[in-house]
Amino acid sequence: MDVKSLPKVELHRHLAGSIRIETAFDMAEAAHLPVPARSPQDLSPYLQVLEPMEDLGQVLEVFQFIARLFTTETHIERIAREVILDAAAENIKLLELRFSPDYLSQSAGLSWDRLTGFLLEGVEKARQEAGDIEVGLIAIVSRNLGVASARRTADYARRWKDVLVGFDLADDERAWPSSMFVEALRPLEALGLPLTVHSGEATGPDYVKDTLDSLHPRRLGHGIAVAADDALIERVVREQVAIEACPTSNVRTRCVPSFAQHPAKTLLDRGAAVTLNTDDPGLFDLTLTGELEVAQTQMGFSGDDLLAVQHHALRASFLPLDVRTRIAQRHFHGLTLA
Ligand SMILES: [Zn+2]
Repeated sequence: MDVKSLPKVELHRHLAGSIRIETAFDMAEAAHLPVPARSPQDLSPYLQVLEPMEDLGQVLEVFQFIARLFTTETHIERIAREVILDAAAENIKLLELRFSPDYLSQSAGLSWDRLTGFLLEGVEKARQEAGDIEVGLIAIVSRNLGVASARRTADYARRWKDVLVGFDLADDERAWPSSMFVEALRPLEALGLPLTVHSGEATGPDYVKDTLDSLHPRRLGHGIAVAADDALIERVVREQVAIEACPTSNVRTRCVPSFAQHPAKTLLDRGAAVTLNTDDPGLFDLTLTGELEVAQTQMGFSGDDLLAVQHHALRASFLPLDVRTRIAQRHFHGLTLA
C-alpha cells in the first residue's frame, strides 16, 4: 500500500492544534508574548508535544498557551487556509475541521461571528487554490468552559447552521461528563446538526455509556475505552457509531501505553467503523500519511485495512451525501455510501 498516494478522508482535526510553527511564531510576535523565541523552532517547547507526556492534562496546558496566540481574526483566516493546503498536499480529499469559537476568542475577546467570517474566507481561499478537497466545519464546545459556554455555542450553531456540518463536545470528560450537557445541546436536534463527542479518551467505558445514553452521538472522538468492554463494542457496531481514532495523540497523552496496544485494529476487526485521524498535526508535529504508516508498521493494519478506514470515514462524514458521493466516484471507485 502506497500510503502517500492513497486518497484520504480525515474527520478529526482541531484548527487550534494545526498551526504551522512559522505561523505560530508570527502570532506570538503579534501578541507580544513574553517567550524567549528568536526563531519558530524556539517556540516548539511551548506549543508542541513531541514525547509522551505525563497525562492529558499537560496537553491541555499547551492549549492554554496556544489560546493566547489568537489576538486577531486575520490569523484565523491564515491558519484555516494553511491547514487545508497542508491537508490537500497529502492527498486528503475530505477534511472535517473543528474549532471552538469560545476557545479561539477567549484570550483577546474576539467576536465569534467576526472570526467565523475570517475562518470561512480562509477555507474558501484554500479550496480555490488546492482544487480537489472538500471541507466541513464542526463547532466544538470545550467542556472545561462550562455549561453556559455550551449554551452559547449551541446558539452560535443556530446562527451558522448553514456553514457547519456538525457539532463536537471536547476536553476533560472526567470533570465534565456528557450527561451534564444534555439540556444545553438539545437545540442542536432541531437544527439537524449531527454530533460527535470526545469520549473514552482518558476515561473508562462507563463514561462512553454515559455519552451514548445521554447525547446519542453519531461518532466518538477517540473512543479508546470502547475496547475495554465487549458489550460496548457490540453496541457501537450495532448502532453504527463511528470511532475517530487518533493514534499518536493517544500515545503522547499516555491514554494508551504504545502503538502496539492501541485498540483501533481490534475495534476494526470486530466490525466497528474505525477511522484514523491526526487530532492536532501542529501540536504533535505529524501528518495523516504518517499516522497511516504507523498504523501499518506498528498497529497491525494491512493495506486493505487502511482502505477500509478511508471508506468508513467517507461513510461517517457529516458532509452532505451528494458531496461524499462525488468523492466516492472520483477517488474510491464509486464506493456505495448509503
Ligand atoms: Zn480531539
